[in-house]
Amino acid sequence: MDKEFSVDSDGLHQAVDLMSRDFSYAEGLHLPIELPQLGIGSTAALNSLAPNILGGAARLGEATSFAHMDPPTPWITWAMTLWNASLNQNLLHPATAPVARQMEQRVIAWLAPFFGMDGGHMTPGSTVANLTALWSARECAGVTQVIASDGAHLSIAKAAHILGLKYLSVPIDASGSMDAAQLPTDLSKSALVLTAGATSTGAIDPFDLVGRAAWTHVDAAWSGPMRLSGYANLLTGIELADSVAVSAHKWLFQPKESALVLFKDTGKAHAAVSFGGAYLATPNVGVLGSHGATATALLATLLAWGREGVAQRIEHCMDLARRLRDFVANDERLEIYAEPQSGIVVWRPKDDRLFDQVLQQLPVGSTSTTSIAGGRWFRNVAANPSADIDLLIATIQKALAVC
Ligand SMILES: *Cc1c(COP(=O)(O)O)cnc(C)c1O
Repeated sequence: MDKEFSVDSDGLHQAVDLMSRDFSYAEGLHLPIELPQLGIGSTAALNSLAPNILGGAARLGEATSFAHMDPPTPWITWAMTLWNASLNQNLLHPATAPVARQMEQRVIAWLAPFFGMDGGHMTPGSTVANLTALWSARECAGVTQVIASDGAHLSIAKAAHILGLKYLSVPIDASGSMDAAQLPTDLSKSALVLTAGATSTGAIDPFDLVGRAAWTHVDAAWSGPMRLSGYANLLTGIELADSVAVSAHKWLFQPKESALVLFKDTGKAHAAVSFGGAYLATPNVGVLGSHGATATALLATLLAWGREGVAQRIEHCMDLARRLRDFVANDERLEIYAEPQSGIVVWRPKDDRLFDQVLQQLPVGSTSTTSIAGGRWFRNVAANPSADIDLLIATIQKALAVC
């Protein structure tokens, strides 16, 4: 037996010990330019990569991390990822991944009802979830066009392009939501995509539009997990959609790549995107071929935290966003783009000359920028329950004072 393929407790313990070491960014990337002829061994590789990998990454759970939709991940998911990598199951083959397949089915069965859906499957992200849903829409409802708002994620236009469907973009209103008055009247050949939590602004499209088109897909990549929280009613109407996409690697705190595509009628939707193969015991559903056991990390998190544990963390993130919103709204040097709807705060100094100066003073990873209708804005995303909002506010105040 080649021992590289068995459990090396010392090596794995060392990997864990290295995680709590403080590597500075300065250590740089010391890698051979050419593919090495001879290996240095696993332990040496581990030690040589630690400063690069562990020191060269943003820490998404640190106090000022408030810029992007990428959350810190709970340690139980690290353990599951380790097990997954060692087992390397392929959910394409029921015979070799019997339990992993059931785990994915169970996690889907736990989550789908929050969205009024009856099933679905996991994908590596909502980009693929959106593509899969619109592929089903084309097969099941014969749609020839995809309609979404100007605030929709680029993956919607990308999916329409791949599927050979026309793409129509509808203007947004002042809050960043789809302006329903600008929709075409005949939606009988259209898949209407409503965004729950636009990437730039967090805006939620009007859900009274669900059901008006031949197929309604809700892109809930960001804010979908609010359905498990006290904010569930902000997405009322989602339960009437034909399909829903949710990124678990955003507000369900999962390591990438983890997302769900859910369907109202999964039997029909899956049948429309299934292919058989001589070597396959069951048909291959959806876009992916080989498919890993990502579900186990999500299942473990939900088992560890329960719905309440997820809800508390999302609600806490919403509180952090609310505190930042209140600060911006009460400082007359600043303006807010619109009332935050799903934990994303978009704001800027009223005086555009201060924009770059303030940005330079803010810690890397604390604030991102976005462009809306040609205007530049700062954007904060409440994906980190450990963020220290007082510290961030103090930092913004200091940056303004310097200007
Ligand atoms: C992030 C995001 C996506 C894409 O999801 P990935 O998981 O990054 O592929 C799609 N739609 C919205 C609204 C998003 O915020």
